[in-house]
This record gives sequence, structure tokens and C-alpha cells, in this order.
Amino acid sequence: LRDRLARSGSLGRGLLGLLTSGTIDESTWDEIEETLLLADLGPDATDELMENLRRRIQVISTDDPAQIREALRAELLALVDPSLDRRLAATRREAPDGTEVPSVALMVGVNGTGKTTTVGKLARVLVAEDRSVVLGAADTFRAAAADQLATWGSRVGVDTVRSDHDGADPASVAFDAVAQGIAQEADVVIIDTAGRLQNKKGLMDELGKVRRVAEKALHGDGVAEVLLVLDATTGQNGMQQAKVFSEVVDVTGIVLTKLDGTAKGGIVVNVQRALGVPVKMVGLGEGMDDLAPFDPHGFVDALLE
Ligand code: GDP
Repeated sequence: LRDRLARSGSLGRGLLGLLTSGTIDESTWDEIEETLLLADLGPDATDELMENLRRRIQVISTDDPAQIREALRAELLALVDPSLDRRLAATRREAPDGTEVPSVALMVGVNGTGKTTTVGKLARVLVAEDRSVVLGAADTFRAAAADQLATWGSRVGVDTVRSDHDGADPASVAFDAVAQGIAQEADVVIIDTAGRLQNKKGLMDELGKVRRVAEKALHGDGVAEVLLVLDATTGQNGMQQAKVFSEVVDVTGIVLTKLDGTAKGGIVVNVQRALGVPVKMVGLGEGMDDLAPFDPHGFVDALLE
């Protein structure tokens, strides 16, 4: 993790450098503010962190880099909020009528963010935990999307349910995937959805229908997770997408992809605050083992490395 987050490290190192390079005056705080904003921490979290750091700096010995480092670590950790529940629902459950059903995860997000890749990697993580998984290719808009998902499915050794024709109803694929998950006694069904950011109403209708139909197939049990996949390198644009998705569907967690390729680690804090849901997993590369549960302590340590 630390190696992969090497570029994000420039945030913590930058701050540490500024705070330990001699007198801390107003121009130092200006530079700190700029560093935080450049790392996509967002204005609110930036103000809060600066205020808390100012307060801490007054009561510690600023000649001692170790104390400054500790203060910074504590404040960054508080912003990332280690108390949030980041576990994924991944077990069989009982529907209202007593039927045993899988946990269903809907994956939502704009095309190109790494959604399909994330479905494959997530299946890999779950299979490694001995869970049985079925994939549903409900992104029926792009023909290549189902092929790409099925390729991931065979790489990680799980079945992919897809439509036999292009342009099929995504909700019917979701229904079939859940039905197969129930028949196979799977623990988890992961459903890849289309990522067109057409108008908000179109998106709301499509995701709403996929969800309703999946819940019908689940004998009335709810969809356990709606995971929003977000590309960490897209900054404000990504934040905007996140807001749109959270307005049209109840997001339960965020998967932040491409965190290996950015110095903008502040987006973790920014998006958690904007949506009020935790970052649950992070993508750290293109390979099949490059998805990890998000660990606030490891993340902050990597920032300060
Ligand atoms: P989708 O359109 O959202 O389904 O996106 P894809 O899954 O096709 O991914 C788009 C590109 O991003 C592909 O080239 C992936 O290999 C790449 N990608 C996905 N996740 C990550 C990640 O965590 N890190 C890096 N560096 N690349 C990623």
C-alpha cells in the first residue's frame, strides 16, 4: 500500500516540510492551505484541518519534528474518520419470506472510472475469502462492457450472467443474475450498471428500476450495497459526479479507483464528507489483486511516509 500511494505521500510530506522548516508564520499557513487544496481536500476540510493544526501547534514544541509529525498524523486521521463502518455486506441473508438470498451489490458510476475492473477485482477479493460470487452484466448499453465483465469473471473463476442480445433491459439482467445467485446459493451477486451520465432523471429511472427489480428477485430483501466507483484522479469533476449519483440512488459506500496514480489523496476526505458515506475500498492498480479495503491508519501513515 505504501509504495502504491507514494505519490499521495507528497501531501503529508509537503505539510511536514512546511511545518518543520523553521518559523511558522502566516505565509507558512498560506502555503499549507494551497497544499491542501491542491490535494483535493476541499475547502471545508482544509479550513478545519488548518484550524486544528494551528491550535495544536501552539501547545507543542515546534522545534521537535516528531511532535509535529504526531500532531499532523492525529489530525489527518481524524479527518479520514477511522470510526466509520467500512465492512462490505458479503453473506447470505434471509428475505422477509424466509428465503435465503445473497447480498447484492450494485456498482454505479461513470464509464471510465474503473467500474468493470473493480467488479472483477472485488469478485477476486471475495473468492479469496471463500465466498461464492455471481456477476451480473447490467451495463447493456455498451456491447463490449458485458464481454469485458465476462472476461473478468473467467479470470477469477465466477459466473457472469448477461443478456443474449445488445440493448437488453438492464433490470432484466439484474433479475436473472439475482435468480442465478439464489439458485447457486451464492453469497454475493455483484451487478455492473451502465455509467452514462445522461440527464439526472434518466439515470434515476434506470438505476431505480434495476434496484426495484433486483429486490423483487430477492424476495423483497433490499439491495445490500450500492457502491459508487469514483476515479480519484478526476478532482472536482469526480466530486460533481459523486453528488449526482448520491442524489439519484442511496449510496452505501465509495470505491476510489486509481489512487495509485494521483497525489490528490485529499479526495478521500472530500468525498466522504460530501456524501456522508465511507470510502470502503481503494483501487491501487490495473491488476486483479489491486483492490484493497480502505484502511484509514495505513492511508495516513502512507501520506506521512
Ligand atoms: P469502466 O468504464 O468504468 O467500466 O472502466 P474500466 O473498468 O474499463 O477501467 C478503465 C481503465 O482504468 C482501465 O484501463 C483500467 O485498467 C483502469 N483502472 C481501473 N482501476 C484502476 C486503478 O485502481 N488504478 C489504475 N492505475 N488503473 C485502473
